[in-house]
Amino acid sequence: MYLTGYHASSMERITAFVATPGANTPEMFVPKIEVPLVPEQPGVYTVSGWDDDQDPVQMIAEALGGARKVLVSDELWAVHLLGLQRRMPDTEFVSFSDSLGGLRSVKNDDEMLAIQTVGGLANQVAAALQNGEIPLVGRSEKEIAADISQRLRDVGHETVEFCIVASGPNSASPHHHPTDRIVQAGEMVLCDFGGKHQGYCSDITRCVWTGPIPDDVAATWDTLKKAQQAAVDAARPGATLGEVDAAARDVIADAGFGDQFIHRTGHGIGTEVHEQPYVKSGNDEVVVEGHAFSIEPGIYIAGQWGMRLEDIVVISDSGAIRCSTTNHNIVSVDA
Ligand code: ZN
Ligand code: ZN
Repeated sequence: MYLTGYHASSMERITAFVATPGANTPEMFVPKIEVPLVPEQPGVYTVSGWDDDQDPVQMIAEALGGARKVLVSDELWAVHLLGLQRRMPDTEFVSFSDSLGGLRSVKNDDEMLAIQTVGGLANQVAAALQNGEIPLVGRSEKEIAADISQRLRDVGHETVEFCIVASGPNSASPHHHPTDRIVQAGEMVLCDFGGKHQGYCSDITRCVWTGPIPDDVAATWDTLKKAQQAAVDAARPGATLGEVDAAARDVIADAGFGDQFIHRTGHGIGTEVHEQPYVKSGNDEVVVEGHAFSIEPGIYIAGQWGMRLEDIVVISDSGAIRCSTTNHNIVSVDA
């Protein structure tokens, strides 16, 4: 996708982009039925459609011409890679992500703008949630997720990549899948969603409380908000990603919730929702201008509630710029 602009579906029918150094134009092997979907880019690649009665893995192995080393996508299905390895027993296969991941993690000006633009779209939907425009109490998590997904499309996303709506105790599960649970009055509703616009992804999390916010929840949110701000402040060229993670983690640990912050602080974002670089403990990689990643600390109290505050930031020469600006507080809604 990043190299060609073509988003192929990953499935048992293989699509492969084969580029060999010094050789002819790269070749894209595509199931014949999907050839009409591939944009024509003469001079960039040629397209070879394969029939269902052909052996595409053999065709790809031949195109690789006995290369000694082949870099493969992290998302290449194991069944295809195993087929290539069988046909090319003397070839070393290595992950592309170390080289391409690094290349992708530093965005150019156009990409930075695309990420800010799509972040602004998701921001509108988060604002609608906080303003009480999205009915919550009496609806199921699935219904609310469908509503949010439609709004993401309405404001300009071409696709919705994910939509987490986690209510009450479900909010303590960071990657909860929306269920038929009906949202009640007087509980947490955590919403984390994003989609793609012009090939780039949004990702935002906001939490609302259906009714007056209990004091302990408000106080814990205060800690979370400070932690998120500390990480945003720390995210500037020259700091390591581990230091950005620590900035958030230290605030949460100092407040006594260290064991309840159970995931990394953030992930890179671009043409994929999750890509390099990763804002995690011990990562010595240095923040540079052009990085784009999430800052999303969370605190999760099993059986009660969980909370997360997430913005995407892009890194300029002077520090992090948030792509979403809507209210950073937990908001009480009557919806
Ligand atoms: Zn998210
Ligand atoms: Zn995220």
